[in-house]
This record gives sequence, structure tokens and C-alpha cells, in this order.
Amino acid sequence: MLGGIEAGGTKFVLAVGPSPDAISARHTIPTRDPATTLAEAAAWFAEQGDITALGIGSFGPVELDASSPRWGFITNTPKPGWADCDIAGFFAGRLGVPVGFDTDVNAAALAEYAAAGGQGGSLAYLTIGTGIGGGLVLNGQPVHGIAHPEMGHIYPRRHADDRDFAGICPHHGDCLEGLASGPAIAARWGASLSQLPADHPGHAIIADTIAQACHILFASVAVAEVVIGGGVANTPGLVERVAERARALDAGYLPGGPRHRIIRPRHGENAGIIGALMLAAGVSA
Ligand code: ZN
Repeated sequence: MLGGIEAGGTKFVLAVGPSPDAISARHTIPTRDPATTLAEAAAWFAEQGDITALGIGSFGPVELDASSPRWGFITNTPKPGWADCDIAGFFAGRLGVPVGFDTDVNAAALAEYAAAGGQGGSLAYLTIGTGIGGGLVLNGQPVHGIAHPEMGHIYPRRHADDRDFAGICPHHGDCLEGLASGPAIAARWGASLSQLPADHPGHAIIADTIAQACHILFASVAVAEVVIGGGVANTPGLVERVAERARALDAGYLPGGPRHRIIRPRHGENAGIIGALMLAAGVSA
């Protein structure tokens, strides 16, 4: 039996199952302070019987360097109380099992890559919600550099009808997250994208901004698919609009042509937790 945790800023999703695609029990708890949240999660796993390994896909930033003494930590997050939290070490100690650890978005990318049958050897997963994050699988492996990618903080070219908005990222202003996250949309137009009328210019502005991120992924690392999840991505028609805009931005140049695709998650809301169970399978004896 494998255990998985999708550790998010607002909720933790917990699951156990004999394999990543066979979840036998799952449970969701709110993310409170670390001591309360981690203890509650550990207690739930203890009730599920023995597991052989645990996988954690976590909000970040996190330390992924296996040679670092801080491997498995949530590091300098602004989320109150969570900075320098040894989340992997806590569960390794409590549950006495090996722990696989990666970002929440790399976990989701792994799950979507497997669901796609490994086509093209590559896949990127973008989550567009309260923030914007991206995970990347290349040659079947999640990508870490000296740290993990932070795709939400690239700078897109500004849409011609959106030049006046300064953006809301506290670090960069008008980076991708500063322009296209849920709070950025609300700051501009006082509503979520799905609440805006169908003819509102916000739809084209947000689609253009996200499409640029997809084009960067296609052009820089030639991923087969960009999978887009998260709350903003639930806006009806948005992902289709992004795909159409990305085709227009490329203008027929990329050699991958129509094999580059922008789609909704095959696993829907479950990509992250299934990916966490895959991380467990990767370290299970
Ligand atoms: Zn930023």
C-alpha cells in the first residue's frame, strides 16, 4: 500500500492505494499551522494500516537537492508558520517509511505524463489559480535545476489592451502570476474570469498571456503537451482559447506543429494526488 499527500496552501489531500491509479481511500484536511496539519495527516495514515512508502507533492518553495541537509523542507514560503518546515522528515519519522518528495506541480506533471502514455517523452503542467506554478517532465523525469522551476514568474509581453495594469506579484509586478492568476484577474476587473460576460476583453487578455507561457514551453523545451489545471482554468472555454491563441502566436513555425497540444488535465482534480502516489511508488522497496 502506498500513501500520498498533495500538500497545498489551503488544503492537504491524503490518499492510500495499492498503486497510483487505484486510490482506495482519500481524505482532505484544511491547511492550518504545520504542527496541527502534519499531526492530523499522520493520524489519518495511521488509521489506514501499513504503507510501504509515502509520496509528497508540496507547495513551495521546497528543497529538492538530495545532497542538502534541508532536502524535503518547505523553505522560505511567506505562508505564516510554514517556512523551514521539514515536511518530508516529519512523515519519514512518524510513519517509518521512505518518502518521495517533489513540488505539487511536478507531481501533477508526472501523473499527466503517465496518463498520456509517455508520448513525446515530455509534458508541462501549469496550475492557474491563486498563484501560477508549473511542473515539467522531460525524458520521463521531473525537472529540477539548482532548484525547481518557477514558471509562474516569467515575464510575458503585455497585451495591447492591458498596458495600464501594474500586476500584483510582490516581487515582479507584471510577471505571469502578476497578470493572469485569480487575484490578478480580480484586481483588474473585480470578478473572476468565469463571472465576466462572454464578450469581456479580459478573456482574450488572459488567454493571450497564458498562451505566451505555453509557447515558451513549446519553443524552449519542445514539450508535447501543456496541461492546464487550477481554478482559473475551469473558466468555460479558456483552455480552448489559450490553445487557439498559442497557434496564432506560433504562426505555423514550430517543427512539432499540431503535435504540440494544450489541454485540460486527463486526471481532472486528481492529477496532484495521483502524482504524489507515483512519487511513493518511486521510492517503495
Ligand atoms: Zn512574479
